Amino acid sequence: MENKTEILLEVKELKKYFPMGRKTVLKAVDGVSFDIKKGETLGVVGESGCGKTTCGRTCIGLYDKTDGEVIYRGKDVHRMTKSERQEFTKNVQIIFQDPYASLDPKMKVLDIIAEGIYAHGLLTDRQKIKEKAEELLETVGLNKSFLTRYVHEFSGGQRQRIGIARALAVDPEFIVCDEPISALDVSVQAQIVNLLEKLQQEKHLTYMFIAHDLSMVKHISDRVMVMYLGQIMEITSSEELYRCPMHPYTKVLLSAIPIPDPKVEAAKKRIRMEGEIPSPVNPPEGCRFQSRCKYATEECRTKTPMLRELVEGHFVACHYPERAE
Ligand code: SF4
Repeated sequence: MENKTEILLEVKELKKYFPMGRKTVLKAVDGVSFDIKKGETLGVVGESGCGKTTCGRTCIGLYDKTDGEVIYRGKDVHRMTKSERQEFTKNVQIIFQDPYASLDPKMKVLDIIAEGIYAHGLLTDRQKIKEKAEELLETVGLNKSFLTRYVHEFSGGQRQRIGIARALAVDPEFIVCDEPISALDVSVQAQIVNLLEKLQQEKHLTYMFIAHDLSMVKHISDRVMVMYLGQIMEITSSEELYRCPMHPYTKVLLSAIPIPDPKVEAAKKRIRMEGEIPSPVNPPEGCRFQSRCKYATEECRTKTPMLRELVEGHFVACHYPERAE
């Protein structure tokens, strides 16, 4: 069994702002600190606009940072030398949300899968590359004869499997799964999650698994981080989060998960949230969640709650976590 104590990725006070004109900035990620241990899956959850995708992309250097640090195996992701960067882009891959948009429709499956192999010079012999691509297709549950076909011939689930094969082609150790199942039919979602779990065990992968609701990350995540308007609201083990959530926002997200039993679902108390998520261009003062939190006080409106460790390994950013039902 993997010893999940070695830190692979360390994020310190990371900020990513996007200029939106001369005087406005969108604070997509606004001072987040966390780490990801080797072999674990960190689920990252929140509504759209909470900064989870920007956070994932900034962590792997797809976006430059505004401030803070991202350290991968002791190296600053945004200050790597050319050779360190080359090594990093091999070891770290991303699987995108939309398998329709992220795979080039003009390319054959073989060329899509082999792109990274060529880019990193891992193999040069055409026959060996073909054999490797065939093996990868079988690994992700597809027929090796698909290599000569174009992606438009495949379903969403099959395309996402091709996207996974492409990511695996360079033998990475860390994969950012950026809402990999959100665009897929419910019936296919579990298959892709099961595949990702199987691959993690076989290849000792580390995942950052981004999703917009908590039901999707429940089984795959070792720990879950809940984000709201560019900041972390709560982070703890998956088991603890579902058993004993402490942040009012986490409780709202959990109450929104449908329960398969219609009687239990009908009796369930769903916590309603006021209004829409505010704009990250103009986030609320104090606690980011205060405009939608029923427990908000004057203190919440003026003072930003720190992310505090309330129980071992369970961090919460709330002035009054004991108040939430
Ligand atoms: Fe609600 Fe206040 Fe806690 Fe923010 S700090 S979540 S507003 S109780």
